[in-house]
Amino acid sequence: MTAPLRLRLDGAALVSNWRHLAKLGGAASCGAAIKANGYGLGARDVAARLAEAGCRDFFVATWGEAAALAGLGVPVSVLHGVRAEDPLDAPHARPVLSTAEQVKRWKPTGRPCDVMVDTGMNRLGVSAEEIGAGLLDGLAIETLMSHLVSADEDVPLNARQLAAFGALKGRTPAKRMSLANSAGIALGADYAFDLTRPGIALYGGRQRPGHDAIRQVATPEAQILQRRRVRAGESVGYNATWIAPADTEVAILNLGYADGYLRCFSGRGSAMVAGVGLPVIGRVSMDLTAIDVTALPELREGDWVAMSYGLPETAALSGLSQYELLTGLGGRFDRIWA
Ligand SMILES: *Cc1c(COP(=O)(O)O)cnc(C)c1O
Repeated sequence: MTAPLRLRLDGAALVSNWRHLAKLGGAASCGAAIKANGYGLGARDVAARLAEAGCRDFFVATWGEAAALAGLGVPVSVLHGVRAEDPLDAPHARPVLSTAEQVKRWKPTGRPCDVMVDTGMNRLGVSAEEIGAGLLDGLAIETLMSHLVSADEDVPLNARQLAAFGALKGRTPAKRMSLANSAGIALGADYAFDLTRPGIALYGGRQRPGHDAIRQVATPEAQILQRRRVRAGESVGYNATWIAPADTEVAILNLGYADGYLRCFSGRGSAMVAGVGLPVIGRVSMDLTAIDVTALPELREGDWVAMSYGLPETAALSGLSQYELLTGLGGRFDRIWA
């Protein structure tokens, strides 16, 4: 059975983005953040493609996400650490420890782990003071990492975090150090250390000039369920927020806010067919969205249209972040790789 809704995924663009970020990172290895099901694209498919391209470091949030990647033969780091309820023996996965309690829990296993140190985010991570007091002694640490607060902005905090993290060089048993996410990679060579951890830019996100070569990966496409003529003065959709100023040809798409195409696209989003923009009219509803197709008389019921979904532009017009635009895409899409 095929769905009337598909997410068109460009595997060549994904790999090209990873290679571009790897090059920006200089001598550092380039990993991949594939949490939240590969930012909504499908973690297994993303991991398999990037592993084939040479990626050897993958990051997920939870052990459930790590389990979904079993059998791919790639090592996975679990960013949320290890709780009492989590397995201590998943062969392909290791935790990113971020509290003294987690360190105590993991140390007896003798197995490799990563460690997150907080340098200003005040989210997850042990402190530099705890490290100074010997918290990490005796751990088999693969990678010591920290996370940037505002890498997508030019603020003094970037340099402060860089200095705080750099000061830990040689002060822990870690084999490697890792600081930069997508935006961090574009902050400069100093930020790359031994391993970078891009996420959003792999999937088409652009946050800094260094991302200019990043290509769009995901495009939602919806099928036309009905085409109708709406007479001047009639309305379209819930609460009649759009009134036809003239006779208008309207296509109803199988796409709505339950798919992650949220109501902020009402009157703002658009579809793109053969280079022609087709504006969303009226309110986006749960499963349906209306577009003005007056410009394309040949479009008919059963045809597919691509939604305009370039991440920086779509974020600007919707008020959603580039991250939300991807992770919100729901389970009703057929995810189709080309
Ligand atoms: C999500 C995440 C990343 C990737 O961040 P992007 O901004 O998507 O590149 C890197 N490191 C950590 C710790 C993360 O949580």
